[in-house]
Amino acid sequence: MKQRHQDIRDAVAQLCSQYPGEYWREKDREQAYPTEFVRALTEAGFLSCLIPEEYGGSGLGMSEATAVMEEIQASGCNGGACHAQMYTMGTVLRHGSEEQKRMLLPGISSGELRLQAFGVTEPTSGTDTSRIRTTATREGDTYRINGQKVWTSRIAHSDFMLLLARTAPRDAGEKPHHGMSVFLVDIREAQGNGLTIKPLRAMVNHATTEVFFDDLIIPASSLVGEEGKGFRYILDGMNAERILISAECIGDARWFIDKATNYANERKVFDRLIGQNQGIQFPIARCYAEMQAAALMVERAADMFDSGENCGAEANMAKLLAADASWKAADMCLQTHGGFGFAEEYDVERKFRETRLYQIAPISTNLILSFIAEHVLGLPRSF
Ligand SMILES: Cc1cc2nc3c(=O)[nH]c(=O)nc-3n(C[C@H](O)[C@H](O)[C@H](O)COP(=O)(O)OP(=O)(O)OC[C@H]3O[C@@H](n4cnc5c(N)ncnc54)[C@H](O)[C@@H]3O)c2cc1C
Repeated sequence: MKQRHQDIRDAVAQLCSQYPGEYWREKDREQAYPTEFVRALTEAGFLSCLIPEEYGGSGLGMSEATAVMEEIQASGCNGGACHAQMYTMGTVLRHGSEEQKRMLLPGISSGELRLQAFGVTEPTSGTDTSRIRTTATREGDTYRINGQKVWTSRIAHSDFMLLLARTAPRDAGEKPHHGMSVFLVDIREAQGNGLTIKPLRAMVNHATTEVFFDDLIIPASSLVGEEGKGFRYILDGMNAERILISAECIGDARWFIDKATNYANERKVFDRLIGQNQGIQFPIARCYAEMQAAALMVERAADMFDSGENCGAEANMAKLLAADASWKAADMCLQTHGGFGFAEEYDVERKFRETRLYQIAPISTNLILSFIAEHVLGLPRSF
């Protein structure tokens, strides 16, 4: 079937073909960062495709960006190592000062700078962001930061991070989400001066960490936009994040379906191909149909994003459907491979673990359902 942005897809697939399964297996085993892969994607300009041309990017839309992310995953690579480089800058682009944009965006475009870490989640507050405890206290021309973040991914491979911290207590504003602010922290200056990063070994190789702030002093000019409006700014960036991650899930689903189809066409049991059994064929066919349906929702959300429409519902539904499609395809692919699905060399178990993440992060399935129930259908708020 002809796909949109075939030229971009071909170029991404060509680049990814240089990073085969064994490259990712080794990185996964060592929990090492795929530096070479990220550098190649950056140099080819793919990670700056959403940055406007006036700041050195290629000024493309979400539709093209989803083609990049989908193709990375469909090639068996893992865009989780760098996907945030595409969308984290959106907060600065939309809400940052001209000075912040000039300081950051051309550097991201050229590959000199990385902004691919954001610290929102804390040990005691994941889903309920309003309960974050990290504080930023204004002291003259500076802010003093104290607190802790967890699951801060890619920070060890980033020059800047976006940090969400409380500048006013939770009960001081009209709503619990008021009183939080976003800061652009220069990691190079902060590390060792109040910022400590500790790697967090996890089920997937995601360069994720725990981050500690002990009297970290940052210039007041690090504040993005207005004080107290940080939660709104983070929310504004979520549609882009959800759409791009949906595209990654579609790519994963395609990879699992291709892998299962090829295996079912090769593996003989009882002297015939396993793919001849409808018990093997039907799950593959169903996953294909579900992946195609989810892909249409991703396209729709991306098109709405590009035309400036409010795409909150579509971005959330795309994330839900695509994450479900990829997880179901992962399970089907493992089952199709029988015992060999567990063997590292087939890459199925690695991709299986990697795609499981998207049922939980960056937003869990339950919270998307709750958003649809409350904001689309008008059902009562449940929490
Ligand atoms: C590998 C990895 C990388 C990550 N990277 C980042 C990152 O770079 N930056 C960052 O800030 N965060 C990151 N996260 C954190 C991620 O966004 C959170 O894990 C996610 O938001 C869920 O929060 P939690 O883990 O605290 O779960 P909790 O909030 O403790 O929720 C636990 C479970 O309860 C469910 N639940 C909670 N409330 C309700 C309710 N009202 N109704 C129904 N169900 C409910 C949730 O859906 C979830 O299944 C990452 C996480 C992982 C695992």
